[in-house]
Amino acid sequence: MLERISHIKKNIKNSKITILGCGKSGLSAANLAHYNGAEIFISDKNNNSNIKKLISNHGFKFSEIGKHTNKCLDADLIIKSPGISNNEKIIKKIKNKKIPIISEIEFASWFTKNPIIGVTGSNGKSTTVKILLELFKNKYKFTFLGGNIGIPFSLNVLEEISKNIKKCIHIVELSSFQLEDIYYFKPKVSCVLNLSEDHLDRHQSRDHYYKSKLNIIKNICEKSYFVYNSENDDLTNLIDNKKPNYIPFGLYNESNSFFLKNNTIIEEKSGKKIDCNKIKLKGEHNYANIIAALEICKIFDFDFKSSLKIIKNFNPLKHRMEKIECNNKITFINDSKATNINSTISAIDSFSNKIILILGGLSKGKTDYKNYINSKNIKTIICYGQEGKTIYNQLKIKYDSKYFKNFNDAVEFAVKISILNDVVLLSPACSSFDQFNNFEERGDKFKDIINNYNFETKFKS
Ligand code: ADP
Repeated sequence: MLERISHIKKNIKNSKITILGCGKSGLSAANLAHYNGAEIFISDKNNNSNIKKLISNHGFKFSEIGKHTNKCLDADLIIKSPGISNNEKIIKKIKNKKIPIISEIEFASWFTKNPIIGVTGSNGKSTTVKILLELFKNKYKFTFLGGNIGIPFSLNVLEEISKNIKKCIHIVELSSFQLEDIYYFKPKVSCVLNLSEDHLDRHQSRDHYYKSKLNIIKNICEKSYFVYNSENDDLTNLIDNKKPNYIPFGLYNESNSFFLKNNTIIEEKSGKKIDCNKIKLKGEHNYANIIAALEICKIFDFDFKSSLKIIKNFNPLKHRMEKIECNNKITFINDSKATNINSTISAIDSFSNKIILILGGLSKGKTDYKNYINSKNIKTIICYGQEGKTIYNQLKIKYDSKYFKNFNDAVEFAVKISILNDVVLLSPACSSFDQFNNFEERGDKFKDIINNYNFETKFKS
């Protein structure tokens, strides 16, 4: 298979490529393949008029929507969208015919010789790549950010080659699904922020999920680096951390280049510091993300001093530990992006006040909430939605708990019972798709309810 892929890689012109899944990354891959002279066929299962329009607007003549037919099989190569499950019938047919399947990330990487910084992990990817973007923008004229963050890597690579940009950096956020069909993809720096349970609804097992993540270092060599979280046992158990180009990062090891002490990030060599009370990102998990980014910058000879100001001014991303400014009596936190149990635990651990925690949404696989959630600071747990009932049944023995079918009712109840100095934390540990189109919509709804609440009456009574 590797030989066949290598052959196509060298002879992309006039090769036949099927693009399976016509989302943003599929379309961008199609554009990049077309630019390089390939013949394109696009197939998308969604029978949506917008998709039809998009395909024709991009000038692709050969396509099908509403189904994946055997027409997909008339190809030298398949580029599969990360959203398509390996259990799809068409994937089985492709595999039977031994047509190579690659991810859009693999494909895009064929057309750039510039350094790639690949960042993966169960949590913190988007925050870390955004920090990296700010830091690298300051030093490199052309810094591209792409991948799972919502800008296809193929789009960035197409811009690089069509504009003949000679020197640039590609920062790429990578999900486990994007790392599934990797053959030659080789970042200059690979980073795994952490590994913990997630996506067990789509991966066959935790091992399978972890294995996909570690595909990021499949092609690592002496000239490339692996920045890894040495305080994450699930990760360190799977790697040979004795290699010289494997660079550990973490919060507590004072022999690492950076560590956290007394709420201060310290550079070991120079003793220079960032006072975490003075930065906008909150929570130790975010300090770990900052340290990972600083370790990556070190490989590129960044001066820590020049990074300090950028880190101080870095604004947290929306829907991740986002503080809602509405009154100074109760703290409202929108952490709607916390869609697995580990991100929720990081959020809980970031507060010392009493917490009213909102959990629920759509399950991402069997989770033992009872064992994971253990904080003394939790006052009440409010569960909602499809997974809410399961969470409620597990946690009602340990905590004062309540279940609501509907998200709005859950949030309104949380606001109603909150008192002075409480933290009302939406950090749901589940995906949003039972009641919303995405986590952004869920977070916005949360903000709307709070912003429209009559706090004057609440505090009068
Ligand atoms: P990702 O892109 O991996 O989903 P985000 O930066 O969007 O990561 O953050 C997703 C959720 O995970 C948020 O709730 C955030 O507060 C939490 N989070 C961020 N970094 C970490 C980390 N290093 N460990 C645990 N949770 C984290």
